[in-house]
Amino acid sequence: MAEPDRQHGELEHRRYGSVTVLVPAEGAAYPNGGTVVVAGADATLLIDPSLAVRADSADPDALMISHAHEDHLSGVRHFDVPIHGHHLDIAAIRSPEVLLDGFGYPPDRREEFARTVLPPFGLIERPDAIAVPTGHRFDLGGGVSATVVHLPGHTAGHCGVLVEPDGFFFIADIDLTGFGPYYGDVGSSLAGFIASIEAVADVEARWYGTFHQKGVVEGHGVVRERLAAYRGVIDTRRQRLLDLLAEPATLAQIAEHRLVFRPHVDAPHVETVERRTARLHLDALLADGAVVEAEPGLFRAAPG
Ligand SMILES: [Zn+2]
Repeated sequence: MAEPDRQHGELEHRRYGSVTVLVPAEGAAYPNGGTVVVAGADATLLIDPSLAVRADSADPDALMISHAHEDHLSGVRHFDVPIHGHHLDIAAIRSPEVLLDGFGYPPDRREEFARTVLPPFGLIERPDAIAVPTGHRFDLGGGVSATVVHLPGHTAGHCGVLVEPDGFFFIADIDLTGFGPYYGDVGSSLAGFIASIEAVADVEARWYGTFHQKGVVEGHGVVRERLAAYRGVIDTRRQRLLDLLAEPATLAQIAEHRLVFRPHVDAPHVETVERRTARLHLDALLADGAVVEAEPGLFRAAPG
């Protein structure tokens, strides 16, 4: 069993074999997260340095970034070591401006997000970030390795990292929360996210580490149940949209009804994310024949 074994400043260190997860005292919900440190005999890999990580929190030889979101990149500023990410997210890992573009906000929302949300994360330019393909393996010495597993959907280049021989599978923002899968970016994919959930379910590991508040799940059977519930949120959104389209509606009207966020949530990204999520579900339902476009821009559930 993993036991918290010491405090380091405001980070609790939780050990899973050669893996240590640095969990902020205030918890790992956004904007925070649980940073993963993999220590081999020769080298240490640090994955997703969070907002709570400081220069003395770890002594890595290299960084790996699961995907280009601000909460996974915040602590990059503290470490002058090689940094890696999947090639499909690497441009946004290299540049905060490209990262912002990936949200696809209209100009006023983009400016508001850049001004109000991003500054505490302290994102920096890392034009030297190294693009790695799926299957890339970090050999850390003493038989410890960390292999990049492409799990797209959340972003195009979202990746997990499988640490062996310990059997610790970091699955990043396949985060198993009740909120459910997030696929509201320009590079997000609904079909990709579903395939990635299924891919994780097929990997027999001992531990499955998420970046946020659900932390580390132990056991293949347990994670398969959690993944099924998580996947169920997608099915619930799909059904809510189908029910809504008993009456014809436009994309804007669907977005107002909100498939993702609760009604009281007010943030610069809500409208864009609702529209994109609705669009992805609409496209899937149109492809299935479950929804028809009654006239240009007006959608309704197929009869029968
Ligand atoms: Zn993310």
